[in-house]
Amino acid sequence: MKRNPTRAVKIGSITIGAGHPIAVQTMCATKTADVAATVAQIRQFEAAGADLVRIAVDSKADAEAVAQIRKETKANLCVDLQENYRLAATVAPHLDKIRYNPGHLYHHEPEKPILDKLKFIVDTAGAHDCAIRIGCNAGSVDPKIAEKFPGDDVGALIASATEHCAMLERLGCTRFVVSLKDSDPNHTIETYKAFAAARPDVPLHLGVTEAGIPPDGIIKTRVAFEQLLSRGIGDTLRVSLTLPNPRKHEEIEVGRAILKDIAEGRFRSVPFFEAPGLNIISCPSCSRVENEAFVDLAFKVREMTEYAKSHKITIAVMGCRVNGPGETDDADLGLWCGPHFVNLKRGPESAGAYPYDQILGKLKEELDTLIARRAS
Ligand code: SF4
Repeated sequence: MKRNPTRAVKIGSITIGAGHPIAVQTMCATKTADVAATVAQIRQFEAAGADLVRIAVDSKADAEAVAQIRKETKANLCVDLQENYRLAATVAPHLDKIRYNPGHLYHHEPEKPILDKLKFIVDTAGAHDCAIRIGCNAGSVDPKIAEKFPGDDVGALIASATEHCAMLERLGCTRFVVSLKDSDPNHTIETYKAFAAARPDVPLHLGVTEAGIPPDGIIKTRVAFEQLLSRGIGDTLRVSLTLPNPRKHEEIEVGRAILKDIAEGRFRSVPFFEAPGLNIISCPSCSRVENEAFVDLAFKVREMTEYAKSHKITIAVMGCRVNGPGETDDADLGLWCGPHFVNLKRGPESAGAYPYDQILGKLKEELDTLIARRAS
């Protein structure tokens, strides 16, 4: 495969970019503080051939668990910092890479300049031999940037990523990769192509976020990866699928299968992905899921909405409060899961919160209303 001339970024025992093999990664969906379960899932991923494993850290307990996890595995580890960028100091000694989301940095210490927060992350990563990922997501772009790009998710994502690359470089850091994920494979293709044209030197982590349940989630991801990798774009990738924990390693298997097919010239995508009717997007779940009924709910939503398959409607099903509220805004109907209730949304508006055993009925009412309104 032809590859873009990106710079090399060392992450633990692997190097990505500069023509190195495309690394396949995934993310634990166990509670990070549950060290035994997390280590077992890391082993499951390693057995499936994972090059790098990401774990989420949201609390002090999660951060402290990372040291224990490190003692039990030699896997290349990345930690996902969300709002709490200061946890980098606790986890970095035990890691190979730190991922932060530019859209979440403003939450804590809002009065502190973003550059100062980045300096903390860069200095911490540098002191502990960690690489960095600037992990941009269409559903959680920094509001200050998003407001400059009304209705233009692609433009906002590119602006956010470009701005953060420049800030990291200003701080003397070039050991970073970038991701610009969107749940729409067409937007994903457009965004990565535009960013790669502007910054051909920056290694890229590919992914379609919240791709959903197989087989649809695999098809969306395959379409995007085929279009990008065949153009030389992409140095590492993750296939994000909504799967129960015992099947999470399938993300690695699917990633490897897509890479093999592309390398051997087997393409299955049409040039443009168009969901023929009902489009269900759902997050792949991670340790932030507060009720494990989430994965089951995603499958039940697909089953219950079967009757509406021919309608061009997008339903988003998200596992938690961290990304759920933002990532459901662009869907026609959205669900995001809390510990005891599921929040229902019509686009960006709230339509109430319901217990898990009532949410399917409420969703069906909303879906029927939407279908009737569009038919009238
Ligand atoms: S929405 Fe929440 S549970 Fe789902 S992958 Fe994102 S952070 Fe994890």
